Parts: sequence; structure tokens; C-alpha cells
Amino acid sequence: MRHLDRQQLTELLAAPVFHLIGEVADEMHLEAYVVGGYVRDLFLERPSKDIDVVVVGSGIQVARQVAVRLGRHAHLSVFKNFGTAQVKDGALELEFVGARRESYSHDSRKPIVEDGTLEDDQQRRDFTINAMAVCLNRERFGELVDPFDGVWDLEDRLIATPLDPDVTFSDDPLRMMRCIRFATQLNFEIEPETFEALERNRERIRIISQERIIDEIQKFMASDAPARGWELLFQCGLLEIIFPELYALHGIETMNGRAHKDNFWHTLEVLTNVVRAGGDLWLRWAALLHDIGKPKTKRFDPAAGWTFHNHNFVGEKMVPQIFRRLKLPLDDRMKYVQKLVSLHMRPIVIADEEVTDSAVRRLLFEAGDDIDDLMLLCEADITSKNQQRKQRFLDNFQLVREKLVDLEERDRIRCFQPPVSGEEIMELFHLPPCREVGVLKSAVKDAILDGVIPNEHDAALEFVIQLHRKRRGN
Ligand code: ATP
Ligand code: MG
Repeated sequence: MRHLDRQQLTELLAAPVFHLIGEVADEMHLEAYVVGGYVRDLFLERPSKDIDVVVVGSGIQVARQVAVRLGRHAHLSVFKNFGTAQVKDGALELEFVGARRESYSHDSRKPIVEDGTLEDDQQRRDFTINAMAVCLNRERFGELVDPFDGVWDLEDRLIATPLDPDVTFSDDPLRMMRCIRFATQLNFEIEPETFEALERNRERIRIISQERIIDEIQKFMASDAPARGWELLFQCGLLEIIFPELYALHGIETMNGRAHKDNFWHTLEVLTNVVRAGGDLWLRWAALLHDIGKPKTKRFDPAAGWTFHNHNFVGEKMVPQIFRRLKLPLDDRMKYVQKLVSLHMRPIVIADEEVTDSAVRRLLFEAGDDIDDLMLLCEADITSKNQQRKQRFLDNFQLVREKLVDLEERDRIRCFQPPVSGEEIMELFHLPPCREVGVLKSAVKDAILDGVIPNEHDAALEFVIQLHRKRRGN
């Protein structure tokens, strides 16, 4: 964080639009301030695109006049019910609001809103670092108004609420999610009293819509260290409420002196590994969910110890339910996560046994273009503390990777298209569409994947003719 005096803030707010807002406000005898995230990000030297302006008086009136003065390319939208207005001009996005006081009733996020002073407005904001304002009126241009010492909290890297945190969180429980999101995104600590209020108010999260909750989660999932967000959710007790399946991964059980690893902390480690390897948002979700089927499949076998048989398939089935409930997209992105969850054991099994052509070919066939992401996930999944064991897996994975390249060049399995089509088979043997056609087709596929024949049209044709003859008994 850098320190900024009035002079420096004035220089940083040199864009003509800030002076224009100040002029318009001066003419109307109103005060106008740039406020919230934009001011915070000036101190943190982070880029920010949306600019929030608070007017002591009518934000809408100032917005109207600003839009007029910006010229005919500026676009104004007024939200009368909320007392806000938006002005868009090219890449510029300005949000205007009148300073307000809010009072909340217990069972809703919808407050009773009245006009208020600047400080009333700053009080109702979520965190001290988000409650700083810089004046835009000519006489006071660049003056910082920071009644809750947001600058100190920026300096100490702390998330704290301007008011009693129980009041801030209870009034609008979405702020609990924002608290964890900012702590994760900015790599700040949560001030201890604020953290305790998260624990006390966690049940209030139930009045918040899932869409808003997932928005905050997606913001921290896209940040540099998303595992921290899940860790904080776990520690304050919110995780159990908003994502019980993930919470269920936590814990270690011991039987006959044998313990299994804690799958929650393991999962967060895998998530961190995937982030380090450059994994995008959806590979991160795959990492988070790769073992989600483990609690349901956990058994103790006196001979083998703890087992989680088929947890990948159980996990695969859980993914759509989880995506639907969390309000994540139900399209190809979900299918991708599902596929990785389902296949995440395969490279390990292959590497653990023998790396045969046929096993690798089948893996390539099923993973298709997602094979590289799958391999990345599997390497991230090796969190063993035993260096020797870890190295053995990594070496075997290297072998799998080499074989993948090798087979890919020879057989082009990744974009597998059967070299003889169903139509061709029907025509050849004068068959109507029937089960036999399917049987022959899948026999060709298996023959190619098992390396019995090469992935070529002539060889496949020859094979299918022989097979059909055999099946008819001559
Ligand atoms: P970012 O844009 O990076 O998500 P931001 O702080 O700008 O961060 P916005 O959601 O754009 O967040 O909100 C702008 C400002 O409005 C915040 O800085 C804060 O002052 C205020 N604010 C937003 N949501 C809330 C809320 N739920 N409760 C209180 N104040 C809020
Ligand atoms: Mg913002």
C-alpha cells in the first residue's frame, strides 16, 4: 500500500470526468465524493473500472447533468427505486448515489432508506477500507474523508467493519461473504472481533440468495490463493451451511490404529497445486470437487484399511446436484468438471500398474482434448509427504505423458472418429438400423483402442467384414 496526500490524490484523479462531477455539484450547491472500492484501489495500486460517486443530495440529478455535459455518446440509466443512476461513456462506468442512512429489519436484506449525511453513508458501508471518500468539489478537490481510519487498516492489511461487526453483518449478511472474498483477494487478515462476528452471525447467511453467494465465491476462486477463502469459510462455520458436501470431507477417523488422511485439507492442497500450475477457474473447481464422493464411499476393511471405492464415480454423480444448488452453470463447464472428477483416478491406476499402450489409448479416448488438464490435476493430487513415493508417482506420470504423445502421433485418438460409419456398415451387410450395427461399430472402436488394428479406414473395413462373417457363423 502507498500513502497518498491531497496533492497526490488530486493528481491521480486528473481525468476530466472527476473535475466535471465536481463542477456540476458546485453549480447545484451539493457535495460530491468518489467513494468505496475505487478509492481503496488507488491506495493499493490495483486497477479498478467502476467508479462510485456519492452525492450529499440527489445523486440522480448530478448524474443527469454529468451525462448531458459528457455529450451525446454518454448513456444514462436511472434506477428511481434505488435512488441511483449510472452513466456510461465508452469504457467509463460511473455509479451515482445519494448519501443515505439505512435501517434494517431482522428478516430481510431490504433496508428502510432515508437521506443522510456523508458519514451516515460511510457507516452503512461494509468495511473501513471500502468506506473512504475523496471530495470532488473544486474547493476541496482531493481531500480524503476517512472517519473509520480505512487508511490504517490498509496499512495493517486488515478487514474490519466501520460499525459493530454484529450490526454490519446482521443488517446485510452478504457482507460476511464479501469479508472472506476481500481477505482472500487482497491477502488481508480479518480483524479478530470481525471474525468472531462471522462465527456468531453465520446462520444469517440463509437469507441471502445463492446467486449472490456464488458471485463472491467465484471472485475468490479466480484470485491468486483461493484455498484461503475456503479455509476461512471453514473456520468461521459458514462452510457447513453453504457447502455441506465440502465440509463433510473434513476429519480423520482411526480404526485398529489406522487413520486416513483429512480429505478437506488434502483437497485445498490440490487446489493450491492446480493454481500454481496455472489452472483456470474450472480446473480449480475440478480440483475442489475431485474427492467430493469420498465421505459417501468410505469403508474400513480390516485387511486393506480405509477404502473409498468408486469415489470418483459417486463424485461424478454429485457434480450436477452441487452445480444446480450452488447456481453454477449447467453447461459444458459442468460437463468438463464432471469428466475430470470421473477420470481423476485413471492415470494413477495406470501409473501404479503397468503403463500399457491400450490403457493409455483408452484414457486418451475418454479424456479427449481435456487430457492435459486431467494430467495436471492428477499431478496436483499427489500430496504425499513421503518424497520417495511422490517421486515414484511423478516418474510414472512422466511415462504416461510420453506414451500419450507417442500414441497421439501414431493413432490420433484424441479426436477419435470411428473410421467406418454406421451407414457404411448397414450398406455393406444390407442391414437395417439395428443392434448388430452398434455391436460391430463398438467392436471396431475396441480393436483400435486395444491396438489390434490401426486407426485406419481400410484396416477397420477388413476387420468388420471378418467379424460379421464370424458372427453369422461362416
Ligand atoms: P470490487 O468492485 O472489486 O468487487 P468494490 O469494493 O468496488 O470491489 P462493489 O461491489 O463494486 O465492491 O461496491 C462498491 C462499494 O459499495 C464498496 O466499496 C462498498 O463501499 C459498497 N458496498 C457494496 N456492497 C456492499 C454491501 N453489501 N454492504 C455495504 N456496502 C457495500
Ligand atoms: Mg467496484
